[in-house]
Parts: sequence; structure tokens; C-alpha cells
Amino acid sequence: MRMKIWAAHRWRLALLDLDGTLYQGSQAVPGADAFVERLRISGVQPVFFTNNATRTPQQVADKLGSLGIKAHPEEVCTSAQAAADWLRQHVDPDKGIVYIGMDGVEAALQEAGMRHAHVRSWHPDDFQPGAAVMGLDTSVTYADLAVFCRVVVGLRRFVLTNPDVALPGDGGLQPGNGAFGRLVEAVTGVGPVVTGKPEPYFVDYALRRFGAARDEVVLIGDNPRTDIALGKRCGVHTIRVRTGLGAWVASSEDEADWVVDSVADL
Ligand SMILES: [Mg+2]
Repeated sequence: MRMKIWAAHRWRLALLDLDGTLYQGSQAVPGADAFVERLRISGVQPVFFTNNATRTPQQVADKLGSLGIKAHPEEVCTSAQAAADWLRQHVDPDKGIVYIGMDGVEAALQEAGMRHAHVRSWHPDDFQPGAAVMGLDTSVTYADLAVFCRVVVGLRRFVLTNPDVALPGDGGLQPGNGAFGRLVEAVTGVGPVVTGKPEPYFVDYALRRFGAARDEVVLIGDNPRTDIALGKRCGVHTIRVRTGLGAWVASSEDEADWVVDSVADL
């Protein structure tokens, strides 16, 4: 299988999902480290392509490194970075960004050179908001959400880094960023602009950033509804792995170009 897939295509970029694909919780998927090395040796650029907006690229690279998977921060592509990219293109530079989020969102806005403040420390006298952006923030409070909703009502729009409603946690499911996004939508009547999977903007951003064309890209992930759906919508090749969520996917749900047991088979 390994030779067949790779020999027939001239991929230059591999967009790699993280949770469920390269690792599960605090454990690397067996063989994930060697797989990433094989990509490098074959001249395929690995891109660590994650909806998780809470961590900075350095924090993602550190986590992968702690699992034995070599990764550079410049190779990490997060939904928070895609959100900052969208904001840079759509928001008046004289205005600022009010956000709910953690290190990942803060660092992405900082790097994009945009004026920004967490909703908890922002005051209307500080700057006029040009946009509101929401990433998962595990310290979010009722007061934060109330101020954020008021800003969204004023702007009639907000950016949601990723729409994942529920996340796997140690004791079972826990609320994801998409659940908070729905809360804001329910309160304000304003739907979000989403920059993470399964929105094509995320792939477009990665292709622009890494200078690749669609036919040079393969997207590898465990989730048919985000990873594979995104690949299909963008017209890039997809490989689904049976690790992570992939273990529970019915074959009727499967639209991936190829399915393998794990990245160790690639
Ligand atoms: Mg995944």
C-alpha cells in the first residue's frame, strides 16, 4: 500500500491532522515519528494542520517533540492563524480585534500585527473593534460572553476559529469551541465566519502560506466530517486513518480516496 499511493502522485505537501492521526491524547500513534521522517526524506513537506486554536505553533511543536515526532513551529498551521489571516484581509487596520481565546489566538493576532485585546481586559475607550474572534477558552466566564455578544451585535459578524462542538476529554466529552459559537449565535442571531476545518478557507490559507497547488497536496486525518469533508470540498486528495475517531467510522460514511489502518502504513 505504502509504495502504491506515494509512487503514483507527486505530492509536495502533506496536511496532517494531529489528534487521532499522529497522537491520541498523550500517546503517539505507533510509527507516527517514522512516518513524518519518511515524508521529509521523500521531499514532502509535513504541515501540522490543526483545528486546535488554544496552542501556539511553538507549543504544538513542543508537544509533538515530546512524543518523539520532530516538528518545527513554522510547519504548524492552526485555525487561529487562519483566523488572523482572514482578519488581516477583512478588517480596517485602524480598528482592533476583541477576542475570546487562549495563547494560540493571542499569538496569531500578535504575529499578524493587529491591535487586539481579550474581551475581559478590553474597554470601549481602548479601541474601536473591527472584529470579534472566538477560539476555545477554558477560562471563559458569563461576563466575557456577555461583552463578546454585545460586540458581535454591534459588528453584525464574528470569526470562529473552529466549529468543533464537543471534544474528547479524560472523563468523556467536553464542550468545544463550536458549542460557545452556537451560544453566541443563539444570543445575537449572527452566524460565524469559520476559518478551521471543514471550511475551505483553511486549506486555501495553508496553500498560500506554503506555496503549493491543490494537486500537490494530500490531506491525512481520522475524521470524515472535518478532515475528509474538507479535502473533498477543496479538491485535494485525502487519506483517512482508522486511528482516533476513524475506528468508529461506518464505511458508508467514507469518501476518502484511500483508507489505511494508521499513518504507519503510509
Ligand atoms: Mg483528528
